[in-house]
Amino acid sequence: MDAERLLLDLVNSRLVSGGDVHDELGDDDRAAEWLRDHGAPAEYAQVADARAVRAALVAVLRGEASDAVLEPWIRAMTRTARLTADGLEWVDQTPADRRVGGEAIAAWARLQNGGRPRIRACEAEGCQHFLIDNSRSNNRRWHSMETCGNREKARRHYARAKAAS
Ligand SMILES: [Zn+2]
Repeated sequence: MDAERLLLDLVNSRLVSGGDVHDELGDDDRAAEWLRDHGAPAEYAQVADARAVRAALVAVLRGEASDAVLEPWIRAMTRTARLTADGLEWVDQTPADRRVGGEAIAAWARLQNGGRPRIRACEAEGCQHFLIDNSRSNNRRWHSMETCGNREKARRHYARAKAAS
């Protein structure tokens, strides 16, 4: 499982436009398919876990909750070591109903980058997407150059042209 992709796709999996909710985890069948696409088991425990951790992570990323809301997963995360001919092998022992959440939170924690997070909300007006910025400068502003980047540039150009006239 690619944990960064899991995390990013998860927090971007529910978008609201007007009165319409587009939720990739909305019904159980779609949620199971989403989990299988991301290499996770797709039992009821994982579906419930993915929905719960998504709400917590989105609230933290939007600054609407402190990272204390992630504690139930962090407390549940555990692994044990097994000695093999190649050295120690770490085996994830996190309970099934916290494992998807644990993976996503572990990726989120790695992206905190000493207080300059590499995961954050897209800056385009009205955009609900989040982005992961692995660039050296870590100053990407839009989740997609094709959509939000170009739209914002056009908007600013229009504002400048209007101010100048
Ligand atoms: Zn965007």
